[in-house]
Amino acid sequence: MEIRNCKRCNLAINRKNIVNGTGAMNKIMFIGEAPGYYEDKVGVPFIGNSGKQLEEFMKACNFTRANNYYITNIVKCRPNKNNVPDKYSIAACMPYLIKEIQEVKPKIIVLLGSTALQTAFSNPTLRITQWRGRWLGRNSNIIATYHPSYLLQNVDRNDLFEDVVNDFMMIVDKYRLTIDFNHITKY
Ligand code: URA
Ligand code: SF4
Repeated sequence: MEIRNCKRCNLAINRKNIVNGTGAMNKIMFIGEAPGYYEDKVGVPFIGNSGKQLEEFMKACNFTRANNYYITNIVKCRPNKNNVPDKYSIAACMPYLIKEIQEVKPKIIVLLGSTALQTAFSNPTLRITQWRGRWLGRNSNIIATYHPSYLLQNVDRNDLFEDVVNDFMMIVDKYRLTIDFNHITKY
C-alpha cells in the first residue's frame, strides 16, 4: 500500500512528502512517531539524525531494510516544528498503519518511543521507562524501546544507551527463535 495525496488530517497542509514505510516483509516492523525534516524532504523514514543513531544498533544486529526489517511511523506526514502529532492526526492516520501491518505481516514489532507505545495499546498513560525492554501483547512479539531521538537528547545518559542495547539483544534473540535460527550478529 502506498499512500498518495492524503488529506485526511491537517498535517497535509505543510508536508513536502508523505513518508511511506519501507523494508522487508514478514520479519521485524519498527514503528516510530512521525517524519522529521529530512524524512519530509526526501519521503523516506528515519534518514536524519534519529535514523543514523538507529542505524548504529541495526549494524550491531546485522539488520538491514532490504533483508531484516520494515520501518514506518505512526503518522506519515511531518508535524510542524517536529511536534508530537496530536490525537486527531494519529486517529486519521491509524487506518494506514493497520493496513500496513496486515500487508507486512511482521513476526516482531518494535515500538520506538512513547507515542508508538501509547498508540499501539490505545493508552496515553503508558510510560516508556516502565514498559520498554519486555515482550508485550497477546503473542509476546511486541517490544518497546527508547526512541533514538531521546538518546540524542540525552547523550550523557549511558544508562539509556545500555537499555537500548539490551532491548536490541532481546530482539535478536526473538529474531533467531521466530525468523532465522542462524542469524549472526555482534551482540
Ligand atoms: N523520527 C521518527 O519518529 N520517525 C522518522 O521517520 C524520523 C525521526
Ligand atoms: Fe493523511 Fe496520515 Fe498524512 Fe494525515 S498524517 S495527511 S492521515 S497520511
